[in-house]
Amino acid sequence: MVCNLCEEKPVIKLVNNKRGLCKTCFIKYFDKKVLKTIKNYKMFDKKDKVLVCVSGGKDSTVLLDILRKIRNIEVEAIVIDALIGDYTKKNIENIVDYCKEKKIKLHNISLRDEFGYSLCYIKSLLKKKGLNYKSCTICGILRRYLINKYARELKFDKVATGHNLDDEAQSFFMNVVKNNMAVSARMGPVAGVKRIKSFIPRVKPLYFLMEKETKLYSKLKKFKVYYERCPCSSVSFRKDVGEYLDKFEDEYNGSKYGVVNSFLGILDVMKEKYSKGEVKLCKCGEPCSLEVCKTCEILGKMN
Ligand code: SF4
Ligand SMILES: [Zn+2]
Repeated sequence: MVCNLCEEKPVIKLVNNKRGLCKTCFIKYFDKKVLKTIKNYKMFDKKDKVLVCVSGGKDSTVLLDILRKIRNIEVEAIVIDALIGDYTKKNIENIVDYCKEKKIKLHNISLRDEFGYSLCYIKSLLKKKGLNYKSCTICGILRRYLINKYARELKFDKVATGHNLDDEAQSFFMNVVKNNMAVSARMGPVAGVKRIKSFIPRVKPLYFLMEKETKLYSKLKKFKVYYERCPCSSVSFRKDVGEYLDKFEDEYNGSKYGVVNSFLGILDVMKEKYSKGEVKLCKCGEPCSLEVCKTCEILGKMN
């Protein structure tokens, strides 16, 4: 068996691609697909200052490596250290080394410097007060808060995240099961329902690439990346949905694209429907739908 486009040995089989692609053709296909997504969704304007959210993991490292090569935009990176022992230590070491090598400015922000405690400690403080928050819920809320805050204060035009097709298919599916369409309305390649000055627009250039593709790209490019899962991961529902979609994809080629494309087909209607609610400003400066943002709510409960 040879590559679909040349005589080399294939390294991956893609949807609608009978024979698969070799290493060189796959890397070209991947780069082209990211650039096409950026162009089709008008993710960046000329001279945009882009803050790339990195973790040291495969998706965000791949994203940063592609974005840093785009002319006409200025790229810096941000990593939020949740202080999850060896896991974050190794990841942060990797991304610090990468940014140093490629001369990219990295904003290394620690939860302890910002809020006084590590993620595990915040979780245990809340537990002592009888509040059983999941690690990923706290981590996600605090991360989103810090990223938007730094992006706004440092005057970035866009925030880019490494979400891939699997992430988006899972999120949409979870929101369908939980009847949570208002949350889905904020998803898509360019996130958010409406433009708000205090919320820096978030874009997802890896939107149409599957997780197995970003993983292979990262390995073929030999990025120094730690592939283990986070030990604090509490996303059992997401994991179940992910496994279910993987099984579906194995049996019915193209299922994940099907889910995401169906979602995109109704996204405009959903945005229209859910854009009517008022956006308020929390006392900390963050946009929110209630009087207090989720971060201030957590910090308030801790004290
Ligand atoms: S898996 Fe959960 S706890 Fe771990 S880094 Fe991701 S969001 Fe945070
Ligand atoms: Zn707040």
